[in-house]
Amino acid sequence: MCGILGYCAETWDPALVKFFGLQGFNLQHRGQENFGCTFSNGKKFNHFKDKGLVSQVFTKERRDDFKALQPQIAIAQTRYATAGGTDAISAQPHWLTLLDGFYSNATNGDLPLLQKEIEELEASGTILLSGNDGEVILKKVLQAAHKHNGGDLVAGLKYLMETTPGAYSGCLMTLTQLYLYRDPFGFRPLYYGRWRDAWVFGSETCAFHEREAAIEREVYPGEVIVFDIHGNKEHHQVVPPKPHRQKCIFEPIYFARPDSQVYENPAEVGSFRFQLGKRLAHEHPVPDAIVIPVPDSGRFAAVGYATELGLPLRELLIRNPYIPRTFQIAGQATREDLVRLKFTVMTSLLRRYRRYVVIDDSLVRSTTMRILIDMIREGAEKAGVAPKEIEVHIRLASPPIKGCCYYGIDTPVSKELAAAAHSIPEIARSINATSLAYVSIEGLDEVASKFDDPKNFCHACFTAVYPTPFIPRTR
Ligand code: SF4
Repeated sequence: MCGILGYCAETWDPALVKFFGLQGFNLQHRGQENFGCTFSNGKKFNHFKDKGLVSQVFTKERRDDFKALQPQIAIAQTRYATAGGTDAISAQPHWLTLLDGFYSNATNGDLPLLQKEIEELEASGTILLSGNDGEVILKKVLQAAHKHNGGDLVAGLKYLMETTPGAYSGCLMTLTQLYLYRDPFGFRPLYYGRWRDAWVFGSETCAFHEREAAIEREVYPGEVIVFDIHGNKEHHQVVPPKPHRQKCIFEPIYFARPDSQVYENPAEVGSFRFQLGKRLAHEHPVPDAIVIPVPDSGRFAAVGYATELGLPLRELLIRNPYIPRTFQIAGQATREDLVRLKFTVMTSLLRRYRRYVVIDDSLVRSTTMRILIDMIREGAEKAGVAPKEIEVHIRLASPPIKGCCYYGIDTPVSKELAAAAHSIPEIARSINATSLAYVSIEGLDEVASKFDDPKNFCHACFTAVYPTPFIPRTR
């Protein structure tokens, strides 16, 4: 998963640097492995990309270079790697210069037939440096535009959408133009709007959280929008949107920021999670329990759960915000160590209560939850309470995850997914929970129906029924 952001302006405004940086910070949660940027003043371009957070990569020196060019177009990406490595070459945006000009591209999402796309491009003589989705898309679009369409990038993007199944919300730029595009299923969100006189865009509406910014709308599935530095804007519905969209339901469940809106519905993601918590309480109540959120992923659902049942909500688990999201760290040993580094337990609470219901958004491998339960029981012992006296009920605000994602969320392969390989009682035993229960798919759809037709959401990781062809992942 990644965040893309940027702008296209008729005139250079020095305050754009601050707004652009703010957009990057506001989309940092979508990717913490790389940050990169390409920018142009209409005549010259510059670029940088590296490992690290926005604050580590967008250094004073680079900000000075950025300001010196006075760019009227800029595109950027906060990345976590689902294809390719985390080295600077694999980071986005990708760029290249052809005889007729300069091109750069960044995308959010994955191509489920990536290997096949790479083989086809290489067979046609294209050289790939990284082989990740953003580079494949850039080169495929340029090849289609130049070989058959006189360099027309809209035609190149149309060809992409007609021939390439997958999830891609992207931004492509030349020296003077910016192209926003979104796959016909609309898997990943992408919005555009205004900031002062500039057109701006971002993967979530939190990228527009600035006094002078206003959202216009989402880029529609199958649409290409072209902006240029002379103030022109064109809309091209290059392919019809699919009758039922496949908006990733994991965005509002887990990935998006709670203060972003739920796709085109103006309601916020936090309210989606709150409703899921209420539904979870309705389906799987634990009477007389203390409700404990897993910070921060389970917080809104825990409030919903506690509200629905009139139960007290307490903070038992404290999260160190300076440790990265474990979901985005590869390697099981590191993951386990990080969970213990990341969380601590409020022992004093454990002296007072005996029955807890711990709420989280989802359970992937179950590693985090197993360690949290161990830590709660260890904390009880430290507090002088026998661990067997403590009840730890686990409630999850999404259905069991049974299939890996081919559309941009880095879920592990199926054999590593707890619910793909084990029954719910088996998982409960393996994590040492007193009980374990999930929101049902019907419950999830009931909540989703308050925001859109549930048929417009992708559910593939819960059903293992995929809306596009894919090459099965083995790692
Ligand atoms: Fe989202 Fe799951 Fe579909 Fe991937 S498979 S796009 S995580 S709903």
